[in-house]
Amino acid sequence: MNIHEYQAKQVLAKYGVPVLKGGVAYTPEEAEQVARGLDGPVFVVKSQIHAGGRGKGRFKEPAAGDKGGVRLTKSVDDVRENAAQMLGNTLVTHQSGPEGKQVKRIYVEDGCDIQRELYLSMLIDRATSRVIIMASTEGGMDIEEVAAKTPEKIFTVAIDPVTGIQPFHCRNVAFSLGLKGDQVKSCTRLLMALYRAFTETDAAMLEINPLVVTGAGGVLPLDCKMNFDSNALYRHPDISEMRDEDEENPAELEATKHDLNYIKLDGAIGCMVNGAGLAMATMDIIKLYGAEPANFLDVGGGATKERVTTAFKIILSDPNVEGILVNIFGGIMRCDVIAEGVVAAAKEVSLNVPLVVRLEGTNVDLGKKIMADSGLPIIAADNLADAAQKVVEAVKEAQ
Ligand code: ADP
Ligand code: MG
Repeated sequence: MNIHEYQAKQVLAKYGVPVLKGGVAYTPEEAEQVARGLDGPVFVVKSQIHAGGRGKGRFKEPAAGDKGGVRLTKSVDDVRENAAQMLGNTLVTHQSGPEGKQVKRIYVEDGCDIQRELYLSMLIDRATSRVIIMASTEGGMDIEEVAAKTPEKIFTVAIDPVTGIQPFHCRNVAFSLGLKGDQVKSCTRLLMALYRAFTETDAAMLEINPLVVTGAGGVLPLDCKMNFDSNALYRHPDISEMRDEDEENPAELEATKHDLNYIKLDGAIGCMVNGAGLAMATMDIIKLYGAEPANFLDVGGGATKERVTTAFKIILSDPNVEGILVNIFGGIMRCDVIAEGVVAAAKEVSLNVPLVVRLEGTNVDLGKKIMADSGLPIIAADNLADAAQKVVEAVKEAQ
Protein backbone atom coordinates (compact mmCIF):
# COMPACT_ATOMS: atom_id res chain seq x y z
CA MET A 1 0.00 0.00 0.00
CA ASN A 2 1.23 3.45 -0.92
CA ILE A 3 0.68 6.64 1.05
CA HIS A 4 1.00 10.33 0.22
CA GLU A 5 4.14 12.38 0.74
CA TYR A 6 2.68 14.32 3.68
CA GLN A 7 1.60 11.07 5.36
CA ALA A 8 5.05 9.56 4.89
CA LYS A 9 6.55 12.66 6.49
CA GLN A 10 4.15 12.23 9.44
CA VAL A 11 5.27 8.62 9.84
CA LEU A 12 8.95 9.60 9.69
CA ALA A 13 8.48 12.48 12.14
CA LYS A 14 7.19 9.99 14.72
CA TYR A 15 10.56 8.28 14.52
CA GLY A 16 12.45 11.49 15.06
CA VAL A 17 13.29 12.23 11.42
CA PRO A 18 13.54 16.00 10.90
CA VAL A 19 10.93 17.30 8.47
CA LEU A 20 9.86 20.79 7.48
CA LYS A 21 6.73 22.29 9.01
CA GLY A 22 3.65 21.80 6.88
CA GLY A 23 0.03 20.75 6.73
CA VAL A 24 -2.46 19.11 4.40
CA ALA A 25 -5.35 21.04 2.83
CA TYR A 26 -8.44 20.05 0.86
CA THR A 27 -9.59 23.58 -0.05
CA PRO A 28 -7.82 26.85 -0.97
CA GLU A 29 -9.03 28.36 2.32
CA GLU A 30 -7.52 25.51 4.31
CA ALA A 31 -4.29 25.97 2.37
CA GLU A 32 -4.19 29.64 3.37
CA GLN A 33 -4.85 28.69 7.01
CA VAL A 34 -2.00 26.19 6.97
CA ALA A 35 0.36 28.78 5.46
CA ARG A 36 -0.51 31.28 8.19
CA GLY A 37 0.71 28.75 10.75
CA LEU A 38 4.07 28.27 9.02
CA ASP A 39 7.27 30.26 9.31
CA GLY A 40 7.50 31.52 5.72
CA PRO A 41 8.41 33.76 3.99
CA VAL A 42 8.51 31.13 1.23
CA PHE A 43 5.81 28.45 1.13
CA VAL A 44 5.74 25.43 -1.14
CA VAL A 45 2.40 24.15 -2.45
CA LYS A 46 2.63 20.46 -3.35
CA SER A 47 0.02 18.34 -5.14
CA GLN A 48 -0.59 15.09 -3.30
CA ILE A 49 -1.06 12.21 -5.73
CA HIS A 50 0.42 8.72 -5.78
CA ALA A 51 2.76 9.43 -8.67
CA GLY A 52 6.22 10.92 -8.77
CA GLY A 53 7.54 13.65 -11.02
CA ARG A 54 4.95 16.17 -9.80
CA GLY A 55 7.33 19.09 -10.04
CA LYS A 56 7.86 18.52 -13.76
CA GLY A 57 4.24 17.46 -14.35
CA ARG A 58 1.62 19.52 -16.17
CA PHE A 59 -2.03 20.20 -15.38
CA LYS A 60 -4.73 19.44 -17.91
CA GLU A 61 -6.75 22.60 -17.26
CA PRO A 62 -4.94 25.54 -18.82
CA ALA A 63 -6.32 27.74 -16.00
CA ALA A 64 -3.56 26.30 -13.81
CA GLY A 65 -0.89 27.77 -16.04
CA ASP A 66 2.08 25.72 -17.20
CA LYS A 67 3.75 25.56 -13.81
CA GLY A 68 4.06 22.06 -12.38
CA GLY A 69 2.49 20.31 -9.40
CA VAL A 70 5.06 21.64 -6.89
CA ARG A 71 5.23 25.44 -6.61
CA LEU A 72 7.20 27.96 -4.64
CA THR A 73 5.06 30.85 -3.45
CA LYS A 74 5.90 34.00 -1.53
CA SER A 75 2.70 34.96 0.29
CA VAL A 76 -0.34 33.33 1.85
CA ASP A 77 -2.50 34.81 -0.93
CA ASP A 78 -0.23 33.16 -3.45
CA VAL A 79 -0.65 29.90 -1.59
CA ARG A 80 -4.43 30.15 -1.76
CA GLU A 81 -4.37 31.03 -5.46
CA ASN A 82 -2.06 28.19 -6.43
CA ALA A 83 -4.03 25.77 -4.27
CA ALA A 84 -7.21 26.82 -6.10
CA GLN A 85 -5.52 26.15 -9.44
CA MET A 86 -4.35 22.69 -8.39
CA LEU A 87 -7.30 21.31 -6.43
CA GLY A 88 -9.75 19.44 -8.63
CA ASN A 89 -7.38 19.75 -11.58
CA THR A 90 -5.72 16.75 -13.22
CA LEU A 91 -1.96 16.46 -13.03
CA VAL A 92 -0.08 14.45 -15.65
CA THR A 93 3.42 13.26 -14.74
CA HIS A 94 5.74 10.68 -16.28
CA GLN A 95 4.47 8.22 -13.66
CA SER A 96 0.75 9.02 -13.69
CA GLY A 97 -0.01 7.67 -17.17
CA PRO A 98 -1.39 9.98 -19.88
CA GLU A 99 -4.79 10.19 -18.17
CA GLY A 100 -3.15 11.83 -15.14
CA LYS A 101 -4.49 11.98 -11.60
CA GLN A 102 -6.93 14.37 -10.06
CA VAL A 103 -5.47 16.42 -7.22
CA LYS A 104 -7.80 16.24 -4.23
CA ARG A 105 -5.44 17.33 -1.50
CA ILE A 106 -2.33 19.45 -1.33
CA TYR A 107 0.48 19.85 1.14
CA VAL A 108 1.64 23.31 2.13
CA GLU A 109 5.16 23.31 3.47
CA ASP A 110 7.78 25.80 4.52
CA GLY A 111 10.24 26.66 1.80
CA CYS A 112 13.67 25.15 2.20
CA ASP A 113 17.06 26.73 1.65
CA ILE A 114 18.50 23.97 -0.54
CA GLN A 115 22.27 23.64 -0.93
CA ARG A 116 22.45 20.20 -2.46
CA GLU A 117 19.88 17.65 -3.64
CA LEU A 118 20.76 14.00 -2.98
CA TYR A 119 19.01 10.68 -3.38
CA LEU A 120 18.33 8.10 -0.69
CA SER A 121 16.15 5.00 -0.54
CA MET A 122 15.64 1.86 1.49
CA LEU A 123 14.16 -1.28 0.07
CA ILE A 124 14.10 -5.00 0.55
CA ASP A 125 16.57 -6.75 -1.70
CA ARG A 126 15.18 -10.15 -2.59
CA ALA A 127 18.55 -11.51 -3.65
CA THR A 128 20.17 -10.99 -0.24
CA SER A 129 16.93 -10.93 1.84
CA ARG A 130 18.19 -7.75 3.44
CA VAL A 131 17.20 -4.15 3.71
CA ILE A 132 19.47 -2.18 1.46
CA ILE A 133 20.20 1.52 1.46
CA MET A 134 20.75 3.16 -1.89
CA ALA A 135 22.30 6.59 -2.04
CA SER A 136 23.34 8.88 -4.85
CA THR A 137 24.62 12.38 -5.29
CA GLU A 138 22.22 12.67 -8.25
CA GLY A 139 19.23 13.88 -6.25
CA GLY A 140 16.05 15.22 -7.79
CA MET A 141 16.63 13.10 -10.91
CA ASP A 142 14.86 9.99 -12.08
CA ILE A 143 16.86 7.26 -10.34
CA GLU A 144 16.09 4.68 -13.06
CA GLU A 145 17.86 6.97 -15.49
CA VAL A 146 20.85 7.36 -13.17
CA ALA A 147 20.98 3.56 -12.76
CA ALA A 148 20.90 3.05 -16.53
CA LYS A 149 23.37 5.77 -17.57
CA THR A 150 25.72 6.20 -14.62
CA PRO A 151 25.36 3.18 -12.32
CA GLU A 152 28.68 4.08 -10.64
CA LYS A 153 26.89 7.05 -9.09
CA ILE A 154 24.68 4.78 -6.99
CA PHE A 155 26.10 3.56 -3.69
CA THR A 156 24.50 0.54 -2.05
CA VAL A 157 24.88 -0.97 1.40
CA ALA A 158 23.07 -4.05 2.74
CA ILE A 159 22.10 -4.24 6.41
CA ASP A 160 22.49 -7.54 8.23
CA PRO A 161 19.21 -8.05 10.13
CA VAL A 162 21.12 -9.61 13.04
CA THR A 163 23.09 -6.45 13.80
CA GLY A 164 20.66 -3.94 12.36
CA ILE A 165 21.99 -0.62 11.13
CA GLN A 166 25.36 0.41 12.59
CA PRO A 167 27.06 3.81 12.66
CA PHE A 168 29.67 2.62 10.14
CA HIS A 169 26.93 1.88 7.59
CA CYS A 170 25.74 5.45 8.03
CA ARG A 171 29.20 6.96 7.76
CA ASN A 172 29.83 5.01 4.55
CA VAL A 173 26.61 6.34 3.07
CA ALA A 174 27.40 9.88 4.23
CA PHE A 175 30.92 9.74 2.71
CA SER A 176 29.53 8.37 -0.57
CA LEU A 177 27.29 11.45 -0.67
CA GLY A 178 30.26 13.73 -0.12
CA LEU A 179 29.03 14.96 3.27
CA LYS A 180 31.49 16.52 5.72
CA GLY A 181 31.81 17.24 9.45
CA ASP A 182 28.49 17.87 11.16
CA GLN A 183 26.61 16.81 8.02
CA VAL A 184 27.96 13.28 8.57
CA LYS A 185 26.57 13.26 12.11
CA SER A 186 23.28 14.65 10.90
CA CYS A 187 23.11 11.99 8.18
CA THR A 188 23.93 9.23 10.68
CA ARG A 189 21.10 10.27 13.02
CA LEU A 190 18.77 10.48 10.04
CA LEU A 191 19.66 7.02 8.71
CA MET A 192 19.31 5.41 12.14
CA ALA A 193 15.82 6.91 12.49
CA LEU A 194 14.85 6.00 8.93
CA TYR A 195 15.93 2.39 9.40
CA ARG A 196 13.85 2.13 12.57
CA ALA A 197 10.86 3.66 10.79
CA PHE A 198 11.34 1.30 7.85
CA THR A 199 11.57 -1.94 9.84
CA GLU A 200 9.05 -1.11 12.57
CA THR A 201 6.33 -0.13 10.11
CA ASP A 202 6.96 -3.19 7.87
CA ALA A 203 7.72 -0.89 4.97
CA ALA A 204 8.63 -2.38 1.60
CA MET A 205 10.08 0.79 0.09
CA LEU A 206 11.09 4.22 1.26
CA GLU A 207 12.35 6.74 -1.25
CA ILE A 208 13.61 10.20 -0.46
CA ASN A 209 14.24 12.15 -3.63
CA PRO A 210 15.57 14.66 -2.94
CA LEU A 211 17.29 14.39 0.39
CA VAL A 212 18.68 17.88 0.87
CA VAL A 213 21.57 19.55 2.59
CA THR A 214 20.20 22.83 3.89
CA GLY A 215 21.96 26.16 4.14
CA ALA A 216 22.13 25.63 7.90
CA GLY A 217 24.04 22.39 7.31
CA GLY A 218 21.27 19.94 8.23
CA VAL A 219 20.25 16.95 6.16
CA LEU A 220 16.52 16.33 5.67
CA PRO A 221 13.99 14.68 3.37
CA LEU A 222 12.21 17.10 1.05
CA ASP A 223 10.14 14.49 -0.73
CA CYS A 224 9.16 11.07 0.50
CA LYS A 225 7.45 8.02 -0.90
CA MET A 226 6.59 5.05 1.28
CA ASN A 227 5.12 1.70 0.45
CA PHE A 228 4.10 -0.96 2.98
CA ASP A 229 3.83 -4.73 2.91
CA SER A 230 0.07 -5.30 2.60
CA ASN A 231 0.32 -8.59 4.44
CA ALA A 232 1.60 -6.79 7.53
CA LEU A 233 -0.91 -3.94 7.55
CA TYR A 234 -3.04 -5.66 10.18
CA ARG A 235 -0.25 -4.82 12.61
CA HIS A 236 -0.44 -1.11 11.80
CA PRO A 237 -3.98 0.26 12.09
CA ASP A 238 -2.61 3.82 12.08
CA ILE A 239 -0.95 3.25 8.70
CA SER A 240 -3.94 1.33 7.28
CA GLU A 241 -6.01 4.42 8.00
CA MET A 242 -3.80 6.40 5.64
CA ARG A 243 -5.07 4.40 2.68
CA ASP A 244 -6.45 6.76 0.03
CA GLU A 245 -8.97 4.75 -1.95
CA ASP A 246 -9.17 7.46 -4.61
CA GLU A 247 -5.61 6.60 -5.58
CA GLU A 248 -6.21 2.89 -6.06
CA ASN A 249 -7.42 0.87 -9.00
CA PRO A 250 -11.20 0.43 -8.36
CA ALA A 251 -11.17 -3.23 -9.46
CA GLU A 252 -8.22 -4.04 -7.20
CA LEU A 253 -9.94 -2.30 -4.31
CA GLU A 254 -13.15 -4.28 -4.86
CA ALA A 255 -11.09 -7.50 -4.99
CA THR A 256 -9.37 -6.69 -1.69
CA LYS A 257 -12.79 -6.30 -0.05
CA HIS A 258 -13.66 -9.85 -1.13
CA ASP A 259 -10.31 -11.30 -0.17
CA LEU A 260 -9.43 -11.98 -3.79
CA ASN A 261 -5.88 -11.45 -5.00
CA TYR A 262 -6.37 -9.44 -8.18
CA ILE A 263 -3.82 -7.38 -10.05
CA LYS A 264 -4.82 -5.60 -13.23
CA LEU A 265 -2.53 -6.01 -16.23
CA ASP A 266 -2.67 -4.71 -19.78
CA GLY A 267 -3.64 -7.73 -21.89
CA ALA A 268 -6.98 -9.07 -23.21
CA ILE A 269 -7.30 -12.50 -21.59
CA GLY A 270 -8.96 -12.42 -18.17
CA CYS A 271 -7.69 -15.18 -15.88
CA MET A 272 -9.42 -16.82 -12.94
CA VAL A 273 -7.26 -19.37 -11.20
CA ASN A 274 -6.96 -20.94 -7.78
CA GLY A 275 -3.52 -20.71 -6.26
CA ALA A 276 -0.91 -18.07 -6.96
CA GLY A 277 1.53 -20.54 -8.55
CA LEU A 278 -1.06 -21.89 -10.95
CA ALA A 279 -2.11 -18.31 -11.72
CA MET A 280 1.48 -17.41 -12.64
CA ALA A 281 1.79 -20.52 -14.81
CA THR A 282 -1.49 -19.68 -16.53
CA MET A 283 -0.30 -16.18 -17.36
CA ASP A 284 2.96 -17.60 -18.72
CA ILE A 285 1.24 -20.07 -20.98
CA ILE A 286 -1.14 -17.41 -22.32
CA LYS A 287 1.92 -15.43 -23.34
CA LEU A 288 3.47 -18.55 -24.83
CA TYR A 289 0.49 -18.84 -27.19
CA GLY A 290 0.83 -15.25 -28.30
CA ALA A 291 -1.64 -13.33 -26.13
CA GLU A 292 -1.32 -11.22 -22.99
CA PRO A 293 -3.11 -11.74 -19.66
CA ALA A 294 -5.53 -9.00 -18.58
CA ASN A 295 -4.97 -9.74 -14.94
CA PHE A 296 -3.61 -11.95 -12.23
CA LEU A 297 -6.39 -13.41 -10.11
CA ASP A 298 -6.14 -16.00 -7.40
CA VAL A 299 -9.60 -16.96 -6.13
CA GLY A 300 -8.03 -18.89 -3.29
CA GLY A 301 -8.81 -22.32 -1.93
CA GLY A 302 -12.49 -21.85 -1.21
CA ALA A 303 -13.72 -21.06 -4.71
CA THR A 304 -17.41 -20.79 -3.79
CA LYS A 305 -20.15 -19.61 -6.13
CA GLU A 306 -20.11 -16.16 -4.52
CA ARG A 307 -16.35 -15.76 -4.91
CA VAL A 308 -16.42 -17.00 -8.49
CA THR A 309 -19.25 -14.57 -9.32
CA THR A 310 -17.44 -11.64 -7.75
CA ALA A 311 -14.27 -12.65 -9.56
CA PHE A 312 -16.13 -12.74 -12.90
CA LYS A 313 -17.56 -9.30 -12.27
CA ILE A 314 -14.16 -7.88 -11.41
CA ILE A 315 -12.54 -9.42 -14.49
CA LEU A 316 -15.33 -8.12 -16.72
CA SER A 317 -15.15 -4.61 -15.28
CA ASP A 318 -11.95 -4.28 -17.31
CA PRO A 319 -13.00 -3.08 -20.80
CA ASN A 320 -9.87 -4.66 -22.34
CA VAL A 321 -11.03 -8.21 -21.57
CA GLU A 322 -11.93 -10.12 -24.75
CA GLY A 323 -11.98 -13.64 -23.35
CA ILE A 324 -11.74 -15.45 -20.02
CA LEU A 325 -9.73 -18.47 -19.03
CA VAL A 326 -10.80 -20.27 -15.87
CA ASN A 327 -8.16 -22.69 -14.68
CA ILE A 328 -9.04 -24.44 -11.46
CA PHE A 329 -7.61 -27.43 -9.73
CA GLY A 330 -10.18 -29.12 -7.52
CA GLY A 331 -8.18 -30.35 -4.59
CA ILE A 332 -9.92 -29.34 -1.40
CA MET A 333 -12.83 -28.02 -3.45
CA ARG A 334 -14.56 -30.57 -5.70
CA CYS A 335 -14.78 -29.87 -9.45
CA ASP A 336 -18.57 -30.28 -9.52
CA VAL A 337 -18.97 -27.52 -6.94
CA ILE A 338 -16.65 -25.26 -8.94
CA ALA A 339 -18.50 -26.03 -12.18
CA GLU A 340 -21.80 -25.11 -10.54
CA GLY A 341 -20.23 -21.87 -9.38
CA VAL A 342 -18.87 -21.06 -12.84
CA VAL A 343 -22.22 -21.82 -14.51
CA ALA A 344 -24.22 -19.77 -12.01
CA ALA A 345 -21.77 -16.89 -12.19
CA ALA A 346 -21.67 -16.89 -16.00
CA LYS A 347 -25.48 -16.75 -16.06
CA GLU A 348 -25.65 -13.99 -13.47
CA VAL A 349 -23.19 -11.67 -15.18
CA SER A 350 -24.62 -12.44 -18.67
CA LEU A 351 -21.21 -13.21 -20.04
CA ASN A 352 -20.54 -11.80 -23.50
CA VAL A 353 -16.97 -12.92 -24.17
CA PRO A 354 -15.66 -16.46 -24.87
CA LEU A 355 -15.13 -18.53 -21.74
CA VAL A 356 -12.67 -21.43 -21.64
CA VAL A 357 -12.66 -23.62 -18.56
CA ARG A 358 -10.01 -26.10 -17.59
CA LEU A 359 -10.90 -28.21 -14.58
CA GLU A 360 -8.79 -30.93 -13.05
CA GLY A 361 -9.01 -32.90 -9.84
CA THR A 362 -11.71 -34.51 -7.72
CA ASN A 363 -15.03 -35.21 -9.54
CA VAL A 364 -13.68 -33.71 -12.76
CA ASP A 365 -16.05 -35.73 -15.00
CA LEU A 366 -19.09 -34.58 -13.09
CA GLY A 367 -17.83 -31.00 -13.27
CA LYS A 368 -17.41 -31.20 -17.05
CA LYS A 369 -20.90 -32.69 -17.39
CA ILE A 370 -22.45 -29.83 -15.41
CA MET A 371 -20.82 -27.32 -17.73
CA ALA A 372 -21.79 -29.24 -20.88
CA ASP A 373 -25.42 -29.53 -19.70
CA SER A 374 -25.67 -25.86 -18.74
CA GLY A 375 -26.57 -24.68 -22.22
CA LEU A 376 -23.88 -22.03 -21.95
CA PRO A 377 -21.22 -21.69 -24.67
CA ILE A 378 -18.46 -22.76 -22.29
CA ILE A 379 -15.43 -24.16 -24.07
CA ALA A 380 -14.02 -27.07 -22.09
CA ALA A 381 -10.27 -27.71 -22.09
CA ASP A 382 -8.27 -30.70 -20.93
CA ASN A 383 -4.97 -29.24 -19.88
CA LEU A 384 -3.12 -25.99 -19.52
CA ALA A 385 -1.75 -25.81 -23.05
CA ASP A 386 -5.08 -26.80 -24.55
CA ALA A 387 -6.87 -24.16 -22.48
CA ALA A 388 -4.48 -21.37 -23.42
CA GLN A 389 -4.63 -22.26 -27.12
CA LYS A 390 -8.40 -22.43 -27.07
CA VAL A 391 -8.89 -19.07 -25.41
CA VAL A 392 -6.40 -17.34 -27.72
CA GLU A 393 -8.19 -18.85 -30.77
CA ALA A 394 -11.65 -18.02 -29.45
CA VAL A 395 -10.68 -14.38 -28.94
CA LYS A 396 -9.24 -14.19 -32.47
CA GLU A 397 -12.41 -15.70 -33.96
CA ALA A 398 -14.64 -13.33 -32.03
CA GLN A 399 -12.87 -10.30 -33.52
P1 ADP B 1 8.34 15.31 -7.27
O1 ADP B 1 9.48 14.38 -7.07
O2 ADP B 1 7.03 14.60 -7.30
O3 ADP B 1 8.53 16.22 -8.45
P2 ADP B 1 9.36 16.80 -4.98
O4 ADP B 1 8.75 16.84 -3.63
O5 ADP B 1 10.61 16.03 -5.13
O6 ADP B 1 8.24 16.30 -5.99
O7 ADP B 1 9.58 18.29 -5.44
C1 ADP B 1 10.20 18.63 -6.67
C2 ADP B 1 11.28 19.68 -6.43
O8 ADP B 1 10.71 20.82 -5.81
C3 ADP B 1 12.35 19.22 -5.47
O9 ADP B 1 13.38 18.53 -6.14
C4 ADP B 1 12.85 20.53 -4.88
O10 ADP B 1 13.79 21.12 -5.72
C5 ADP B 1 11.59 21.40 -4.89
N1 ADP B 1 10.96 21.42 -3.54
C6 ADP B 1 10.11 20.50 -3.02
N2 ADP B 1 9.76 20.82 -1.75
C7 ADP B 1 10.39 21.96 -1.45
C8 ADP B 1 10.47 22.81 -0.31
N3 ADP B 1 9.78 22.55 0.80
N4 ADP B 1 11.25 23.92 -0.37
C9 ADP B 1 11.95 24.21 -1.49
N5 ADP B 1 11.93 23.47 -2.61
C10 ADP B 1 11.17 22.35 -2.60
MG1 MG C 1 10.78 13.96 -5.67
